[in-house]
Amino acid sequence: MRQVERWMIQSLFTRSPEGARFGFDYSANPYRGCAHACRYCYARETHTYLGHGVGEDFETRLYVKAGVERRARKELARIPLTAVIALGTATDPYQPLEGRHRVTRGILEALAESGHAFTITTKSPLILRDLDLLSPLGARGQVVVHISLIHLDPGLLRQLEPGSPPPRARLRAMAQLIQARVPVTHFLAPVLPGLTDQPDHLRALLTAVRDTGVQRVMVAPLRLPPALRPYFLAQLKAWSPELIHTYEAIFAEAGYASGPWRRTLEETVAALCANLGLSLNPQRPRPRDLREQVKFPF
Ligand code: SF4
Repeated sequence: MRQVERWMIQSLFTRSPEGARFGFDYSANPYRGCAHACRYCYARETHTYLGHGVGEDFETRLYVKAGVERRARKELARIPLTAVIALGTATDPYQPLEGRHRVTRGILEALAESGHAFTITTKSPLILRDLDLLSPLGARGQVVVHISLIHLDPGLLRQLEPGSPPPRARLRAMAQLIQARVPVTHFLAPVLPGLTDQPDHLRALLTAVRDTGVQRVMVAPLRLPPALRPYFLAQLKAWSPELIHTYEAIFAEAGYASGPWRRTLEETVAALCANLGLSLNPQRPRPRDLREQVKFPF
């Protein structure tokens, strides 16, 4: 049973020093919790800050941030125009709630006005609703959209991400965004050992992505931080008990994948991308006009 509550926020944009590794300086999340329900989602941990659990609570006790548009304009006026803002680091900004509540749409309108560069990470074709805003922003490089897709098999995805849109719908969304001149990067993350890392599967997936017109890929292996680990391993035990020892060995150190598995994955993806003409270099969005906020001392 889903419960949705409105939550009056004190602040929207969070400074993210560690985000520099992923190409952003601030992050913003229109919702708390996520109905896409990905079993591997590291953001499940954030629900514990609200006193909820990382399992079903994260998928069913959802919060809609209220008062966001006014807040966004106020805070953006103080954020340097050189900063890159990431939408959707702890929730999908186009999860089903967005169809009704349009909080993400409100943030996009504020960003379109302020001129800040930003990225959106989503699994949902609902993003196409906002093409009227995204197309002009994309054409001038102010936004880059990351579409997340880890496998082409709908059956496997129903197990791993039971609330997420089907893979073909995401591929169609990639193609339509590209046609509308919005830069798109394929977010191949997380890759899961023994489940989504087979070279044949990766080739088929990257080929399908390439055929949509997408030219860039970001790849990252699964992370199992301590708060997520017991939940995820319990799920894995139910689907594929034979993989438990593999996961315990690969994710022994602080939840990060280590050792030969990670190196093999990186080499495999690099070779496939080179073969298919895909780039692994990230695309950084650009602010609308840097001169607007630069004050020269002369
Ligand atoms: S769509 Fe993203 S935020 Fe939502 S559950 Fe999946 S990984 Fe987590």
